[in-house]
Amino acid sequence: MIVMGIESSCDETGVGIVELRDDGTCVQLADEVASSVDQHARFGGVVPEVASRAHLEAIVPTMRRALAAAGVAKPDALAVTIGPGLAGALLVGVAAAKAYAAAWDVPFYALNHLGGHVAVDTLEHGPMPPCVALLVSGGHTHLLRVSELSAPIVELGSTVDDAAGEAFDKVARLLGLGFPGGPALDAAAQDGNPSAIAFPRGMTGPRDSRNDFSFSGLKTAVARYVEAQERAGAALSIPDIAASFQEAVADVLTMKAVRAAHDAGIDTLVLGGGATANSRIRSMAEQRCADAGLTLRIPKPRLCTDNGVMIAALGAHVVAGGAGPSQLTAATDPGLSVSTSQVFA
Ligand code: ATP
Ligand code: MG
Ligand code: FE
Repeated sequence: MIVMGIESSCDETGVGIVELRDDGTCVQLADEVASSVDQHARFGGVVPEVASRAHLEAIVPTMRRALAAAGVAKPDALAVTIGPGLAGALLVGVAAAKAYAAAWDVPFYALNHLGGHVAVDTLEHGPMPPCVALLVSGGHTHLLRVSELSAPIVELGSTVDDAAGEAFDKVARLLGLGFPGGPALDAAAQDGNPSAIAFPRGMTGPRDSRNDFSFSGLKTAVARYVEAQERAGAALSIPDIAASFQEAVADVLTMKAVRAAHDAGIDTLVLGGGATANSRIRSMAEQRCADAGLTLRIPKPRLCTDNGVMIAALGAHVVAGGAGPSQLTAATDPGLSVSTSQVFA
């Protein structure tokens, strides 16, 4: 069975196609992404109206490219991100998915974007056992308990303020590294000393919640450090600040994720979401999982950031799990929670 996935929740227009085999495995046939990131750079962040217009222009050509790449005329099922995300941006992908599902007369699946960030790992690493997942992106930071990809996900904890990706973007902006900030900060940190500055590890005190995160204090600590250095007329080492900040984020994320898996008696940790493209988060997770005897699964960086094939992969698991399909009247939900069911009536 061929499943197409459409993603338009932020600034990436993604269309992916997978084949769901009879043995339950899922194989990637196409992964086309058109990004409007360059159009947002001069504003220093994603402008929702600009993103919506870019999706409108890109959606049909991106679908055509994906079909051509996969060598199929039409899929057997169509899956789309129904939320969470930017309201206008979501509408474009959902309207396209409904129109094509009706025209092609194929079932339509309205899916949770966040589940897609976890499901995409199956394309590289095969069927997913029950696991703890750490989802870290521009808008979300969650620790999750995943029993089955087609079932509702249980949220173990989340950030109480900024998402980790948002902290990367804001600190990058403060350091003059431009937009998008995460990749630029990662690059700058390569030449820095991660122990040059002892930035705080938020929410790691003995009385703090074990599975929740906080990154706004860290962001403020970086701003204060920069101010103090400037006031003292001292030189600023951007690579050292970037490396020390990145070390603090990676330290808290990986420590809590490994501990959550241990607490739950689970031996597999899955990482997903745009910020898990970060080189230090990946290397520290590898080290700590090896030390703790956990199996670590992280998709390649290209599949960590928003794309359509992650929605196609989740769609395939939902189809295989026997849920759905959704009604063509399903409405977009910009504030959809991660623990809400993966498929919507
Ligand atoms: P969601 O709706 O799932 O929150 P999103 O719209 O933020 O997703 P993603 O592509 O999942 O989009 O994640 C983008 C985020 O990932 C941005 O904050 C970006 O800075 C961050 N990011 C990407 N690459 C890196 C990197 N190498 N290091 C750190 N952060 C990164
Ligand atoms: Mg993006
Ligand atoms: Fe995302």
